[in-house]
Amino acid sequence: MNTFDELGLRAELLETIKQSGYTTPTPIQAKAIPLVLSGQDLLAAAQTGTGKTAAFTLPLLQRLAEKETPSGRRPTRVLVVAPTRELAAQIGENTRIYGKGLPLRSAVVFGGVGMQPQVDKLRRGVDILIATPGRLLDHLRQGTTKLDHVETVVLDEADRMLDMGFVHDIKRLLKLLPAKRQTLLFSATFSKEIRQLASGFLTAPAEVDVAPRNSATEMVSQRVYTLDKAAKRKVLSRLIRDGEWQQVLVFTKTKHGANRLSKQLDEDGLSSTAIHGNKSQTARTRALKDFKDGSVRVLVATDIAARGLDIDHLPHVVNFELPNVAEDYVHRIGRTGRAGNPGEAISLVAPDEIGLLKGIERLLKRPLERASA
Ligand code: AMP
Repeated sequence: MNTFDELGLRAELLETIKQSGYTTPTPIQAKAIPLVLSGQDLLAAAQTGTGKTAAFTLPLLQRLAEKETPSGRRPTRVLVVAPTRELAAQIGENTRIYGKGLPLRSAVVFGGVGMQPQVDKLRRGVDILIATPGRLLDHLRQGTTKLDHVETVVLDEADRMLDMGFVHDIKRLLKLLPAKRQTLLFSATFSKEIRQLASGFLTAPAEVDVAPRNSATEMVSQRVYTLDKAAKRKVLSRLIRDGEWQQVLVFTKTKHGANRLSKQLDEDGLSSTAIHGNKSQTARTRALKDFKDGSVRVLVATDIAARGLDIDHLPHVVNFELPNVAEDYVHRIGRTGRAGNPGEAISLVAPDEIGLLKGIERLLKRPLERASA
């Protein structure tokens, strides 16, 4: 299908889609929207950057809008569970934007910030609740929200939730939901664990796969510089300066490493900020905002903090250190070359990282171009 009209979305949604500047549905949207509208369970392989958020929020908003809003305190009818605060916040933001023309309420709850503002919001009743697993369980324990009217649950980035150790939380949550419901599971890959989770909690799901493992990497030109560890910082500063890069996302392995590098880049005259799990939610939100609006040039991030960051048209990604897990390389460079824009990913590889590089090349099924620093 080539247009959003053909997917059967209502006028209010078509209007917000137009305002967002989207002209054609992405492949995941074209496939998933009709399935979600039909009420079926869905197992979808799609990475960040494919337009997956709109692929579930648009049809779910439509389904909610079609039914009469219950009077009195509104029960939550759509629950979206996401692994990180950033991703939850982004889904919340998308839901708010896409649902602008509809009389629906949504709320986002995640840990690391005070409970009370969330409790106040929940008390008024929300149709759509977007949450990270731990904080949602806290609310359920305290009785500040209930899930007994949930009609659809979305597990977003389910593979990441399993990686982060949320499997028991997820299972506990799913058991609290009505047995008769629609379940949508989004995951970058269909691993054995994901299939197991799906077979326990989904009923005859339709399967959609728009993201063969490394499709996110096809738009991205990738280069590797082999060099000594001690030279990395200088080479990075030079690349940014000579290339006149105005917006670059740099990955480090550790939180400490992210802080240190960010400070050093600042000392080199390249404005920089770090984002990682030890920072408060307020600090993370501010860092992301400064990076997005161009007031800082370099964002240094760890894998978990960067997961799900919605930064449009990011031209440059640098792996200051390679990740231990080859799949994380694909996630990292998926931050660039999004929605049809070409991007560039550079990896600075020290001799002791060659083994990791080989693992990545095996996963990509091709060698990466080497350049000299
Ligand atoms: P997601 O995969 O949900 O993180 O979305 C990736 C990016 O694509 C976001 O910045 C969206 O705003 C954008 N996007 C989503 N749907 C479309 C579309 N149909 N056309 C162009 N951009 C889109």
